[in-house]
Amino acid sequence: MAAYVLTRAGAKVVLLEAGGRWDSRTYSAMLTWPYQSPRRGAPTSERPFGEFDGCIGGWEIAGEPYTVAEGDRFSWWRARMLGGRTNHWGRISLRFGPDDFRARTVDGLGDDWPITYDDIQPFYDRVDRLVGIFGSVEGLRNHPDGIFLPPPRPRCYELLVKQTCDRLGITCIPGRISVLTRPHNGRPGCHYCGQCNRGCRTNSNFSSPGVLIGPAMETGRLTLLTGAMAREVTVGGTGLATGVAYIDKTTGQDRHVRARIVVLAASACESARLLLNSKSSRFPQGLANSSGVVGRYLTDTTGTDVAGFIPKMMDHVPHNEDGTGGGHLYMPWWLDNKKLDFPRGYHVEVWGGLYPPSYGFMGGIHRYPEGGGYGKGLKEQYRRYYGATVGFSGRGEMVPNADSFCEIDPKVVDRWGIPVLRFNWKWSDYEYKQVKHMQETFRALIAEMGGQVFSPMPSAESGYGIATGGAIIHELGVTRMGNNPKTSVLNKNCQAHDVKNLFVADGGPFVSQADKNPTWTILALSMRTSEYIVEQRRAGAI
Ligand SMILES: Cc1cc2nc3c(=O)[nH]c(=O)nc-3n(C[C@H](O)[C@H](O)[C@H](O)COP(=O)(O)OP(=O)(O)OC[C@H]3O[C@@H](n4cnc5c(N)ncnc54)[C@H](O)[C@@H]3O)c2cc1C
Ligand code: SF4
Repeated sequence: MAAYVLTRAGAKVVLLEAGGRWDSRTYSAMLTWPYQSPRRGAPTSERPFGEFDGCIGGWEIAGEPYTVAEGDRFSWWRARMLGGRTNHWGRISLRFGPDDFRARTVDGLGDDWPITYDDIQPFYDRVDRLVGIFGSVEGLRNHPDGIFLPPPRPRCYELLVKQTCDRLGITCIPGRISVLTRPHNGRPGCHYCGQCNRGCRTNSNFSSPGVLIGPAMETGRLTLLTGAMAREVTVGGTGLATGVAYIDKTTGQDRHVRARIVVLAASACESARLLLNSKSSRFPQGLANSSGVVGRYLTDTTGTDVAGFIPKMMDHVPHNEDGTGGGHLYMPWWLDNKKLDFPRGYHVEVWGGLYPPSYGFMGGIHRYPEGGGYGKGLKEQYRRYYGATVGFSGRGEMVPNADSFCEIDPKVVDRWGIPVLRFNWKWSDYEYKQVKHMQETFRALIAEMGGQVFSPMPSAESGYGIATGGAIIHELGVTRMGNNPKTSVLNKNCQAHDVKNLFVADGGPFVSQADKNPTWTILALSMRTSEYIVEQRRAGAI
């Protein structure tokens, strides 16, 4: 987004990308059958989410380790390709609501943002118009409506979920996803192949190479350097950033690019790593870190899943349930935390039904009544049960805590000698209680649908099935914004308090997590920051 806005405003931009070039329009495995691969599409080391998945990277990258403090658990998904994780993300594109920017005022925990919903709302509107998103106008107070294309109709199992939610008093509305259900800004509408995670050959969903980097290249003002692993931000005698030192991964050589303005957008934790590694006599704790806050307040979304078998959906009439990648419905947070034993809410993502078969479904046929066996009987069972499942994924808000942060590991370096991150992680009772509520709700939903849950209720000792920190891949907050330079890294324009020509345009500036996925807010903030840079340059202030 920063490259898009800045080049269109007339700036010359150099984009350093650690991975290679990528454009889904050329490289996506859309419309490839699982049986066209010897692995039936199963994972490879570079594509842990399946061979046809659109993201090169994963939990482990050869030669680029990270470490986790003893006794803690944390997982870090990194992409190494142009456009990063936007090539395969779920494209659930939710605005934060007014309360999400003033969480401390609401419940006394964490901190308020230095901006309000009203400050960011015009940028959400413009991201909606630029990128395209479907949804429905609902008027829900803390789940603001956007400028929506029409949503696709619910699938059969989604209709069943909707009916059940209505009976249980759970809000259930059309999904809000950045997929084009109509032609938009020269891009064609979706043809409902359901393979968004592979990237879209028709450019009908949002990934940054197709929607932002392509148009930025067309300005002629964007220089793209791929295979360029940024190592540190360099600083001059005046204390301003002078550019970025990077490794040319092809030759292994150290290189440097000079710049008047530096914008970090390497994903939240990687940007924090770059700042912490940018040490100098003037900035011995790392750059923009006089507060000591770089790396602190790390959060991820809470998550847990429950799936079940719904006999009512067995032996269905074969029908076409194709649709967009992701659910056509979702449940925004619908309860009042004042009446619950945990703060902050969650939303629910729904899955199941007749998606195109891959290498197995819903954890295996043996989980169904009398499931298993050989030959004709087994085939009949697959036909009978296929599509008769539903699953719920809770995605909730974590409250930032002092024990969850990343720092530079004093001993370990990557293959280029760059010190790596060490993660420290703790969930608190707030998150455990919230996840317990998710489990109970999902089990109640499946029971109300007349179904059978596949797995027993997880115990308190197992954290009620809470996903490992980082596993939901929404890491945020490690270069947080704020009005006070002693307690925050960036000001309300995502500009470093300590270095006025240095900005951060990823999830690092977030002050709280919200019960929404973060990327629409990353895009809106990045657009806002980039326009601020343009204004400041025009005014001669930076
Ligand atoms: C499977 C999956 C599903 C998701 N679903 C959703 C969803 O439905 N909704 C939602 O809101 N969010 C979702 N997310 C999260 C979303 O993908 C991220 O919030 C978003 O991509 C973050 O954007 P970013 O630019 O900060 O980081 P990234 O997308 O990770 O991009 C970082 C870029 O920086 C490059 N880079 C990193 N380090 C360096 C370096 N040292 N030097 C040079 N370049 C570097 C990387 O190669 C990459 O191109 C999902 C993520 C995953 C993995
Ligand atoms: S479902 Fe639509 S947007 Fe997604 S990959 Fe297929 S055509 Fe593209």
